[in-house]
Amino acid sequence: MQLEAIAAALWRANHVAVLTGAGMSAESGVPTFRDAQTGLWAQYRPEDLATPEAFARQPELVWRWYAWRRELVAAAEPHIGHRSLAALAANLPGFVLITQNVDGLHQRAGSPDVIELHGNIMRTICSACLRCVESWSDDWIPPRCPTCGSPLRPDVVWFGEPLPRGALEAANAAVEAADVILVVGTSGLVDPAASLPRRALARGAMVVEINLEPTPLTRSATAFVTGTAGSILSQLADRLC
Ligand code: NAD
Ligand code: ZN
Repeated sequence: MQLEAIAAALWRANHVAVLTGAGMSAESGVPTFRDAQTGLWAQYRPEDLATPEAFARQPELVWRWYAWRRELVAAAEPHIGHRSLAALAANLPGFVLITQNVDGLHQRAGSPDVIELHGNIMRTICSACLRCVESWSDDWIPPRCPTCGSPLRPDVVWFGEPLPRGALEAANAAVEAADVILVVGTSGLVDPAASLPRRALARGAMVVEINLEPTPLTRSATAFVTGTAGSILSQLADRLC
């Protein structure tokens, strides 16, 4: 399907949902999970660093890995694809943006009301009382909660943890309502996020996948557009905004 036809479908839609994954942030220099395992961290698998078990076993190691990823995110800037989604939100009715990314780049590009399925790496919470903690003064790694003394952790969803209920409910509702869904830069391997496009297809919605390479979703998607998130989303925004 040509971009022209996709733009026309977006224009006609009453409700549009977009689901983004790590590929969305690649052009901002935030590595996907697999690509992040370079240098010092090459010896670890994400499953060994991003789980509650890993944090219980080696809290210092996990904290340092996230501190390194936070630095990457802080140095990154949103790209034209992020800005194009913010422009589409302003120009299309019933537009909802759902992301699996934890970097906050969509919000920094001006997207309002982003549904964060996997949390945000720039927020820190207590691993026991779950309070959000803005700052801490001790030198411990990980630092301790000022309220209860337990170790602090990033406010992200680790492998094996449930998604924040409110975010998942909002994402499900958006997908239930959507006439057109764009699925951008996600490998579609991690449930329940991966189940959202499948659910939309089952309802007869139009699902457009934008990725550099085919994924498990590609075969059943209504349309597959090969290309970078930045290039394809900016071409769509040029036609609609
Ligand atoms: P993934 O790494 O499994 O898949 C990334 C997908 O993006 C691949 O299909 C790849 O072909 C595609 N891609 C790469 N560069 C692209 C580009 N420039 N344009 C379009 N597509 C491109 O990522 P996932 O599906 O999001 O799942 C991994 C999990 O890891 C997620 O749950 C996420 O929470 C987490 N994660 C988040 C970040 C972040 O916040 N930036 C980074 C790494 C991992
Ligand atoms: Zn606490």
